[in-house]
Amino acid sequence: MNKSNVAPINNQWEHSYLELPNEFYSVIQTQSVPLPEIILWNQPLANELGLENFDAQILSGSVLPHGAKAAALAYAGHQFGYFTLLGDGRAMWLGEQVAPNGKRYDVQLKGSGPTPYARRGDGKATLGPMLREYLISEAMHALKISTTRSLAVTSTGEQIYRGTLQPGAVLTRIAASHIRVGTFEYAATLASPASLQSLLDYTIKRHVPEELQSQGALGLLEYVKQAQVTLICEWLRVGFIHGVMNTDNMAISGQTIDYGPCAFMDEYHPETVFSSIDHHGRYAFANQPNIAQWNFIRLAECLLPFLHENKDKAINIAQQQIEEFAQLFAKQWLQMMRQKLGLVSEENQDELLIQRLLTIMQQQTLDYTNTFRALSSIGEGGVNASLSPHLRDWCQSWQARLATQGLSLQEVTHLMKMKNPALIPRNHQVDKALKRAITGDLSWFNRCLEAYQEPYHDNPKFDDLRQPPTSEEKIGETFCGT
Ligand code: AMP
Ligand code: MG
Repeated sequence: MNKSNVAPINNQWEHSYLELPNEFYSVIQTQSVPLPEIILWNQPLANELGLENFDAQILSGSVLPHGAKAAALAYAGHQFGYFTLLGDGRAMWLGEQVAPNGKRYDVQLKGSGPTPYARRGDGKATLGPMLREYLISEAMHALKISTTRSLAVTSTGEQIYRGTLQPGAVLTRIAASHIRVGTFEYAATLASPASLQSLLDYTIKRHVPEELQSQGALGLLEYVKQAQVTLICEWLRVGFIHGVMNTDNMAISGQTIDYGPCAFMDEYHPETVFSSIDHHGRYAFANQPNIAQWNFIRLAECLLPFLHENKDKAINIAQQQIEEFAQLFAKQWLQMMRQKLGLVSEENQDELLIQRLLTIMQQQTLDYTNTFRALSSIGEGGVNASLSPHLRDWCQSWQARLATQGLSLQEVTHLMKMKNPALIPRNHQVDKALKRAITGDLSWFNRCLEAYQEPYHDNPKFDDLRQPPTSEEKIGETFCGT
């Protein structure tokens, strides 16, 4: 079965990606599942996109909406540093919705069955990880961090083997596009030069702001550099660790994509790693900017032929972009940390002040989120009583620095509370929500989902979710289990 009787999705539905050479995708068929049932549906997001008419059959990948053409997209990638040919092994791209805001969004089903790129995988996904992506991506959005979104989770009625039998599910993902660094690696390595040119032209048209478009490949690098630096600074602002920053999991759009073994750090330590498969700390918290730059270099390599006809000159141009990546990161990171501390002016000593704070937090194993939130209460009758006594001296230096700005402490608090969330999806709460959800009890999941919608508010109703894990509650490793 390939077509449903449902009406065309709407007249804003397009398939511009399929105008690329056919090396970039494989048209695929639907595969029916025994008992599709919508478990979560994101109505506010559906409204934003102008999407309706999506039933459980469509959202499970069993039936195509009339007018949609399904495809699996081709890409490659460096996984933990090693180049591999990949592609959507278990995802079905349905097309693009041009939303009422004029922006174009991909709609993709994740876990809808094997594709020509499935290698030996079963093409399926299980409920726990799909709920996890829904919860964390929606929390990221509420934290005001660029991310793919989740429109729905649909159970399939299948049992999927992942060590044990697990309920099968499909996630409906919404993305600015699914063009990854790995898509360019695929094109540069395995497609023809003309195809690489087509991908470049398409990506520029779809993502690069008009004022940069005339610069071609250089304009694309400028755009990706800015988007990726901003993204990584934002991750560091809230203590997020992606966990698998392989080049196939880095979107050109600068959206956070592919929520696998990701997690938010509780106590501050720059070397924090959650992923059970990241044995060498390649994707540790504080290594994320280095890895983003490493991935950016892979992209720049793919674009060399378009940067200059003379190879040495092309390398020089790329080299400059790569250096600028690091410089831009250093600048934006400092700016972001200043904002976390309510500093609106720039002083030479600021970096030292920030580093002193981070060192104390690390030595005293202080909670990253709660420490910054406690500092944020400075304009509400003094710094929150929950603040560690080890920070008293440091606080004096900080307050002296704040006094140079001519802002009231109430104004400082207001600014800081917009940058330091009260609530993040703590790993132990996410774990608890998912463990219960896969037994059919979504109450804790829904409570977390609601709480994470307003992460910058002090809502006493959710005070318990602000607590770091006790030693028994602590989750050591987050498995890539998909
Ligand atoms: P990820 O770790 O989700 O970024 O996936 C890495 C690659 O493995 C992508 O090409 C996926 O499409 C593919 N993949 C992951 N799980 C499966 C599966 N169960 N069946 C087929 N392909 C998969
Ligand atoms: Mg991936």
